[in-house]
Amino acid sequence: MPTSPEAAWNQCLDIIRDNISRQSFRTWFAPLKPLTLVTEGDLSKLTVQLPSQFYYEWLEEHYYSLLRKTVTKVLGPGGRLFYDVVIEKDDAEVGYEGTSMQLPARHAANEPAAPEPATATRTSPGRTDFGGHVQPAPVSSPFVIPGIQKVQVDSRLNPNYTFERFIEGDCNRLARSAALAIAQRPGGTSFNPFLMYGGVGLGKTHLIQAIGNYAAASAGQSVLYVSSERFTTEFVQAIQHNRVAEFSLFYRQIDLLIIDDVQFFSGKEKTQEEFFHIFNALHQNGKQIVLSSDRPPKDIQGIEERLLSRFQWGLAADVQAPDLETRIAILTRKSEEDGIDVSNDVLEFIAHNIKSNIRELEGALIRLLAHSTLRKREIDVPMAREVLSDLIKETRITLTIEEIQRLVCSYFSIPEDLVRAKTRKREVVQARQVAMYFSKQLTQHSLKTIGLHFGGRDHSTVIHANQSVENQIDTDPKFKGMIDEIGHRLQLRAR
Ligand code: ADP
Ligand code: MG
Repeated sequence: MPTSPEAAWNQCLDIIRDNISRQSFRTWFAPLKPLTLVTEGDLSKLTVQLPSQFYYEWLEEHYYSLLRKTVTKVLGPGGRLFYDVVIEKDDAEVGYEGTSMQLPARHAANEPAAPEPATATRTSPGRTDFGGHVQPAPVSSPFVIPGIQKVQVDSRLNPNYTFERFIEGDCNRLARSAALAIAQRPGGTSFNPFLMYGGVGLGKTHLIQAIGNYAAASAGQSVLYVSSERFTTEFVQAIQHNRVAEFSLFYRQIDLLIIDDVQFFSGKEKTQEEFFHIFNALHQNGKQIVLSSDRPPKDIQGIEERLLSRFQWGLAADVQAPDLETRIAILTRKSEEDGIDVSNDVLEFIAHNIKSNIRELEGALIRLLAHSTLRKREIDVPMAREVLSDLIKETRITLTIEEIQRLVCSYFSIPEDLVRAKTRKREVVQARQVAMYFSKQLTQHSLKTIGLHFGGRDHSTVIHANQSVENQIDTDPKFKGMIDEIGHRLQLRAR
């Protein structure tokens, strides 16, 4: 059994890493720090530090059983996990900056939350359930003006942007589950504000509007979706017509405010200032704020520091470019929704060739539909190749899985057939994983096909191999150098 907190936690991390996606691992587990490991009688108590309260809620909600199993595996049946939550210094008024709070890792879903002083220390996981939130002390808001009536707000939402129509993949899983959690309890999670960031056409607008559509339908909340440009234009008009007070009041009565593309606030100081006050008023009153941006908050230029730091109070989650499987799933769904009859060959052809952007995937389908209607011809791969020629940069498959195996094995000086054999010798496992990794990167074969070429292994083995190579690339510079070198040799071979 491990004797130091670091050793214990590292063993836990090894298990966790194998069980969740790389992105989730990085987001939720990499930032945790082991603090203490204390043995009391039969109990081994491992305490890890969480960067903020929302980690606590998120881990308990999403990883409770994984954590429990992992800790039991590493520390035995008496293993217990404790969290030490750093309380963010986010509100000077709240006045408990720098303190931390200990919580037992114990789910309290069925128990009413007990009100707790913010500095409570709990040390007996078996005895108490703690489901409370560390909420800033109520601060009286200067913005609540008595007598203001709620008016009916046109939410400006597009009803097509729903969770049902949003395809989940590794690229957006985190953002989507956070979005859903918020939609179910606007203002009631620690994800406030919620900032979603990522490149164009990756589903940010869709997902933040899905929050709005869900909340408007189920909770009867007054929801407002507005782009940052429209917010700016309306604010400028309000100034011109002497209606700034009205503008401010209007925004202050929204329960769920969604602002798209906040990077466009950049350089607009007056607008930022107005938004800053609206933000504070809503946040203090427990209203939900949802934002999107085309880049992470730290890379947004021209926005005041105090506003940027507020953007990071809650949760920032990114959406990334979809992988092949997700692209195929999106195309399949879109063609069904639009009633377009396209064969799987064509869908796979598009998915293989249009990689970076979901909007382009959709555009490709629509264009094909138009051509097939005009020419009264069925959509097939040759037609797709012709019609989409400007969108696709076809990557020729020039390497086979066997060629990759051959080169990787010669690099590691092992007989080639061993990567297809059953052996689990260390150096063979490594060569096998590296060859699988490159097969996934450099060929367009499915995970299943790749697995079959490695002695009939399962697709999950290929996923695991890929993750473990990626992890090592991130953590081991020597290993990364090796992978770069093999990659380089493979590229030469491919020409
Ligand atoms: P962004 O705001 O990030 O630029 P959008 O939300 O406008 O991207 O998405 C572009 C198009 O792709 C929209 O029509 C949207 O419905 C669609 N889309 C994006 N992601 C998904 C997804 N995961 N599932 C289904 N459709 C998606
Ligand atoms: Mg958008």
